[in-house]
Amino acid sequence: MKRLGGKTALVTGASRGIGRGIAMRLAADGATVGVHYGSNRDAANEVVRAIEAQGGRAIAIGAQLDTVHGVNALLEAVQSSLLPLTGNDKLDIVINNAGVGTSSSFEETTEQELDRLLAVNVKAPFFLVQQALPILNEGGRIVNISSGVTRIAYPHIMAYNLTKGAINTFTLHLAQLLGPRGVTVNAVLPGIVDTDVNAAWLRTPEGQAHASGMSALGRVGEPSDIADVVAFLVSADGRWVTGQMVDATGGSHL
Ligand code: NDP
Repeated sequence: MKRLGGKTALVTGASRGIGRGIAMRLAADGATVGVHYGSNRDAANEVVRAIEAQGGRAIAIGAQLDTVHGVNALLEAVQSSLLPLTGNDKLDIVINNAGVGTSSSFEETTEQELDRLLAVNVKAPFFLVQQALPILNEGGRIVNISSGVTRIAYPHIMAYNLTKGAINTFTLHLAQLLGPRGVTVNAVLPGIVDTDVNAAWLRTPEGQAHASGMSALGRVGEPSDIADVVAFLVSADGRWVTGQMVDATGGSHL
C-alpha cells in the first residue's frame, strides 16, 4: 500500500502554486484529496484531472476563505462530497495553504488591506481547524504554510509577515492542544517559490538572479520542494515531529 493509502486530505488553495504541488504529491502518496479553490474552478478541475491521470483520487471544492461563513461552506462541501468518496467519515490531513500576499509597504498599508490579509491568512485557518476538529481523525496531521519571513527580516511586506507570525504561534499552541489526540501540527516556511504571486518580478532575468542569490543552494524554490517536506510531515515517518516551524527556504539568508 502507498504510504498515505486510506487517508483523506484537504488542501486549501490547491488550484494553483504550492497548494497544487502539495495536492499532487499527497495524491501520489495514496491520499484521497480535496482540492480546494477560491475562484479558479477550472484550475482546480485541472488539478483533479492531473491527479486522476496519475491514478489518484480527488475532488474540487470551492469556497471563499475570508469569513467564517466561507469556512463553514468548505466543511459542508467536505462532508457532502469529499468524505462520501472515501467511505470514511473523517479527515486525516488538513493543509492550511491558501493565502494572499501584499505589495504595500508598511507606510502604505491600509486598514482594509490588513483586514484582508488577516482574514485569509489567519482567520480562515483558525476557524477551519476549530470547525474541523469533530471530523479530524485521532492521529491526524495539520500543516500550516507559513513563510521564511518569520525568520528573515523583510520589512517591506510587513502586514503579510505578521500574518505568518500569527500562523507560527497558532501552530505551536495547537500542537500542544491536539497532542493528546495524537494529532501533529507543524508549520512549513517556504522561501521564494516560483508561483503566480511572484510572477511579475521573479520571471525576469534580474528577478531570478536576485531570488536565487538569497538561497544557499543558489536557485528559486519550486512547489514540489515544499510539497515533499509536507509529504514527510503528514506521513507515518513524521509522527514524532510536532509544534515545529520547518524552514523550507533552501537555506535563504543563513
Ligand atoms: P498562489 O497565489 O499561487 O495561490 C494561492 C491559492 O490560495 C490559490 O489556490 C487561491 O485560490 C487560494 N486563495 C487565495 N485567496 C483565497 C481566498 N480568499 N479564498 C479562498 N482561496 C484563496 O500562492 P502560492 O502558491 O505562492 O502560496 C501558497 C501559500 O504559500 C500561501 O499561504 C503563501 O503565503 C505561502 N508562501 C508562498 C511563498 C511564495 O514565494 N510563493 C513564500 C512563502 C510562503 P483561487 O486561485 O482558486 O482563487
